[in-house]
Amino acid sequence: MPKRDYYQVLGLPRTASTEEIKTAYRRLARQHHPDVSKENTKVAEEKFKELSEAYEVLADEQKRHRYDQLGFEGVASDFGPTGFTWQNFTHVQDLEDLLGASPLFAQFFGGFGGAFGGFTRAERNRGADVELTVRLPLLAAVRGAHPTVEVPRTSPCPACRGTGAKDGTALETCPECQGQGQVRRVRSQGYTQLITIGECPRCHGAGRRILERCPECQGRGRTSTVEKIELAVPAGVEDGAVLRIPGHGEAGRPGGRSGDLYVQVVFEPSPIRRDGQEAHAEIAVPLAVALLGGEVSVPTLEGHAELKIPAGTQPETQFRLRGHGFPPLRGSSRGDLLVTAHVELPRSLSAHERELLKEALGETSRPTASRREPFFRRRGT
Ligand SMILES: [Zn+2]
Ligand SMILES: [Zn+2]
Repeated sequence: MPKRDYYQVLGLPRTASTEEIKTAYRRLARQHHPDVSKENTKVAEEKFKELSEAYEVLADEQKRHRYDQLGFEGVASDFGPTGFTWQNFTHVQDLEDLLGASPLFAQFFGGFGGAFGGFTRAERNRGADVELTVRLPLLAAVRGAHPTVEVPRTSPCPACRGTGAKDGTALETCPECQGQGQVRRVRSQGYTQLITIGECPRCHGAGRRILERCPECQGRGRTSTVEKIELAVPAGVEDGAVLRIPGHGEAGRPGGRSGDLYVQVVFEPSPIRRDGQEAHAEIAVPLAVALLGGEVSVPTLEGHAELKIPAGTQPETQFRLRGHGFPPLRGSSRGDLLVTAHVELPRSLSAHERELLKEALGETSRPTASRREPFFRRRGT
């Protein structure tokens, strides 16, 4: 099945509210469940998974933001190497009443290998995410950039490989949960069986018990470091876009994987304004240049360029510099730079300049009614 746009999957405009997204998902989820669906189970499963993937992304503000800006690539690292799986679905609670309403539906979910039973141990003991901001010149939106950021974080202790146990070996499997890190409790409720799964109280989800603590980290399993990471910021990136670097957040609890690093790209102030792929700049053109023609320096993304101003240029004329704008995301063909020329009028004139201007422009530019008055003054001086 070719991958469809998430908004298309849920039949929503890109402006849909979180509430609309939830309503659409629940409506479609009901429609495609195998009790009702006339499609075969395989097709229904595929559809359901597609819906749930779209919901997983659009229901989460951060994921949605990245998807809006970078498309599927923006959220690819949220899922496994093969894409979205039920392990990635975090909104089971939004379907609980649907599940309860239909035993068959519940069975359908059960068919996904108990995916809703919970996360893997590595997920449950996962470390916290780290957020950073990186400031880049606007030119980075044209060429892309590889800035290096310093990330203060905890990382798995190398002496015990993050286990917290001496040499990484002084461990035993938790006898309470047999290494699962979680315990299941089954409760019957009418026709349905309610299975709740909770963290093992004995090992707090680690699945293992430390027999002897690692002397390097005192059993914490992590050490504090400042990691230097080179980022790959793609050309065409929008201001405020967030890059995700998986596994470079805080170290997890023993047995858990590290959190992720999120880096927000913020552009430094620039005389160039951005509007999609178009760039906008403003220049002041001296009156003489506007009248007689000449060259004026124009700010560009690369620095500046000389712009030819033709004689007789009117105020607020817009000049187009082709290919001096922004590329699309990961693209190379650039939009245009639009330069608005503000003609500068002198605030005061010397007597000599006044005379010259009167002589040059006086007869044609003055309204008829006031034409006589300056002649009296000229005679008077
Ligand atoms: Zn250690
Ligand atoms: Zn345990």
